[in-house]
Amino acid sequence: MSIMNNFIINFCLLFTTITLLFLPFRNRPRVTPNTNLNIRLALGGIAGLIAVLLMFNSIQIDVARVDLRIVPVVIATMFGGWLSALVTGLIIIVTRFALTPVEQIDAAILSSIVIGLFIMTISIVRRYARMTLWHFELMVGIGIVYSLPAIYLLTNSWSTFIEISLAYIFFNLIAGLVTYHLLAELRRHFENIQYQQKLAMTDALTGLANRRRLDDSLSLVGSAEEGYSLILIDIDFFKHVNDTYGHDAGDDVLRQLGTTLASLARPDDLVGRYGGEEFLIILPNTSALDAKKIAELARMTVARNLFPTTLVPDLQITISLGIAHSSSSHTSLEALQQADKALYRSKDTGRNRSTLYTKQFELEQA
Ligand code: GH3
Ligand code: MG
Ligand code: MG
Repeated sequence: MSIMNNFIINFCLLFTTITLLFLPFRNRPRVTPNTNLNIRLALGGIAGLIAVLLMFNSIQIDVARVDLRIVPVVIATMFGGWLSALVTGLIIIVTRFALTPVEQIDAAILSSIVIGLFIMTISIVRRYARMTLWHFELMVGIGIVYSLPAIYLLTNSWSTFIEISLAYIFFNLIAGLVTYHLLAELRRHFENIQYQQKLAMTDALTGLANRRRLDDSLSLVGSAEEGYSLILIDIDFFKHVNDTYGHDAGDDVLRQLGTTLASLARPDDLVGRYGGEEFLIILPNTSALDAKKIAELARMTVARNLFPTTLVPDLQITISLGIAHSSSSHTSLEALQQADKALYRSKDTGRNRSTLYTKQFELEQA
């Protein structure tokens, strides 16, 4: 009964720590033997620490110490390959020696040989393995097969050996099964969250940032030290496009304009659809003059290119733009309002043009 109890404690420790182990890896692609060296070393290290925790709670029978340590070794190998496995293995061996009294040093040596052979074997098997339950359990099985002779040698009677090894086989296989499903479930869960987060921030029509993402980014850029610029863009006479060629043609134009604007943006700029047929570009760390240049480039690119739709292969559009720089505003909301005023100036003065908001605007309004 106490053997069962100890295995159950090992079991609980394994799953709690695996869930914690997963957290640093939750927003990364799955670790493989080709992943960056530091990440593989970290994986090996964390799996090693889990093994240590299991060993501190292992069941001591005669001079044998049995626990679920082969499961973290399999995790390290399955994901990070031989390098992660080596790190985990070294941590296990050092711990085994540290936990073993000098007079039982033979047991530690035997146990280290078993772990060494086990890691060598499954590192080779890993080359041919796929991320399936059966391959995961195969590796756990190899660990069991290597461990049983050592457990036999380190226990004093045949009946003790039978009792402990039945529990050992059962609990390791169950732990392998549950671990595999736990990891798969965690991965699915976090991938789903990432996907939902992306959807919540993306405009469905253009694939650009949506208004929520732009608003988030505006509040961030608004608190930055460096000066930033905003370019607000509105399609000229877009109602006419919809009325003449249909809403679907209008949607086509919006998609193509989105692609054009995104292609002109620099790596740190954020291009999004602010609503309807209005787009916003947030340009961090950008002077008013540079923003004006980018706005003019966008205006000319749009005016010179065709926006072909299924009905009209040679559709042409123009855009009007309003530019604001943070130097004449206190908050990003004010900057946005200034860009909007500048955009309306562009509309009022003939469209297909860009206007930079200046202090002059306020004087004129006063
Ligand atoms: P102006 O030059 O003054 O901007 O004229 P406009 O016709 O572009 O301006 P207005 O604001 O009157 O019209 C905007 C139009 O944009 C109205 C609406 O039908 C269209 N629109 C807004 N969102 C979408 C969309 O998602 N798809 C399509 N196809 N049209 C849209
Ligand atoms: Mg509009
Ligand atoms: Mg318009």
